[in-house]
Amino acid sequence: MTETPRLDWDEFTRLGAEIAEWGAAYHRSLPDRPVRAPLTPGAVAARFPKAPPEQGQGLDGVLAELDDKVVPGLTHWQHPRFFAYFPANATPASMLADFAASILAQQCMLWQTSPAGTEVETLMLDWLRQGLGLPEGFHGVIQDSASSATLAAVLVMRERALNWAGNQQGLPGQQRLRIYASDEVHTSVDRAIWVAGIGADNLVRIPTQGPLRAMDPVALKAQIANDRAAGYLPAGVVACTGGTGTGACDDLRAVLAVARAEGLYSHVDAAWAGAAMICPEFRDLWQGIEAADSLVLNPHKWMGVQFDFSAHYLKDPEPLVKTLAIQPEYLKTHGKDGFINYSEWSVPLGRRFRALKLWFVLRAYGLEGLRAVIRDHVRWSQALAEELRADPRFEIVTEPVLSLFTVALRGADDAAMIEYVNRVNEDGRIYVTQGRTGGRIVVRFSVGSFACTEADVQLAGQVLKQMAG
Ligand SMILES: *Cc1c(COP(=O)(O)O)cnc(C)c1O
Repeated sequence: MTETPRLDWDEFTRLGAEIAEWGAAYHRSLPDRPVRAPLTPGAVAARFPKAPPEQGQGLDGVLAELDDKVVPGLTHWQHPRFFAYFPANATPASMLADFAASILAQQCMLWQTSPAGTEVETLMLDWLRQGLGLPEGFHGVIQDSASSATLAAVLVMRERALNWAGNQQGLPGQQRLRIYASDEVHTSVDRAIWVAGIGADNLVRIPTQGPLRAMDPVALKAQIANDRAAGYLPAGVVACTGGTGTGACDDLRAVLAVARAEGLYSHVDAAWAGAAMICPEFRDLWQGIEAADSLVLNPHKWMGVQFDFSAHYLKDPEPLVKTLAIQPEYLKTHGKDGFINYSEWSVPLGRRFRALKLWFVLRAYGLEGLRAVIRDHVRWSQALAEELRADPRFEIVTEPVLSLFTVALRGADDAAMIEYVNRVNEDGRIYVTQGRTGGRIVVRFSVGSFACTEADVQLAGQVLKQMAG
């Protein structure tokens, strides 16, 4: 006879202390590990049995198994020399908050399903709003990812333009919608357009101009007029501050003025660069942001608040709620009108208590602590760009935007560049990603790991030069 499993709080206490030791040791070991696992596909799965255990074994020894089976197959996102993609920082304060959130295990979908979850979320997003220098009147909600925030915004564009007929009637028979963006925006915009049923053909790419590869507002206005004349229904504009490829920034003042004049809903994707706006000296990059209807930034990238935590701000939550709220009887908050039910602000219903992460991080480091990290990253990255510029083998392809720049080997064709990126990454000391800009393959170099030091960025320079031959 097998006993019914009981929740074992003694084991929890013991392993909880062990996992904290284990976690600190893992993080301390990172500088000595290659950033990326040198593995072949299937190698990790092959270390596990093919079938689940019939009998429980408890959790003793599970950390050793983690070290054996899982850790060797990781790409170490918290590594000090992770210069690829964008960062996904997890600070100790945030890990502890996530642990606490797991323990409290709230479902924060309605005010009444977690009054504290709801109110701390409202408050933390208001703290962050103040830190970002956004005016009062922006209301925040935590989305799981920037992709979800952008999807929500695109759904609002659709429903608002169709006078809320899309959810009810579907899209066939409606006027064809059009959404506008440059081709510097993230692929999450494309997917939002697909998923919203608007269709990739109706995401109109506006040409860019200038050193920040900003959407041309005159071309935007002309395109909207052409589309109206051709019988389309222009619905929204997605602008970016810090595009993923090269950090492109639209001129928000100009673009949002066009959106407003044309009656279109606007959404600004500042998923990565938004975190830097806690530093007043960088706010020029999103000058005009206060005119946005909707904007998203990811504290889970560059603010030490680990995944998942996207801050989505709305000038007026009402069109979003009108688009996404659904109220079967069991979800009604009887007698509690006026309270926020955050599940009405997002596509998923269930919601974790994510606000704790931002609270712990702000409490632990303060805005000044976070600013210091971001300022260092920007300074070190820009110094490296200058160092590479001074070396005749390299060519800076796009100038640094905050801590992101792209660089290529002078005269190298695409094949040679891909080969170069692979050589750099296989060396293991640093990890970078390749990108494509202006029709050529480049190295995308982005400083953002909270564990990174100036010496790590200098070492990256050495590796990039050594591998250039
Ligand atoms: C990272 C990124 C996204 C996607 O973020 P998720 O939170 O992973 O969905 C969207 N836009 C930009 C500009 C990004 O850098």
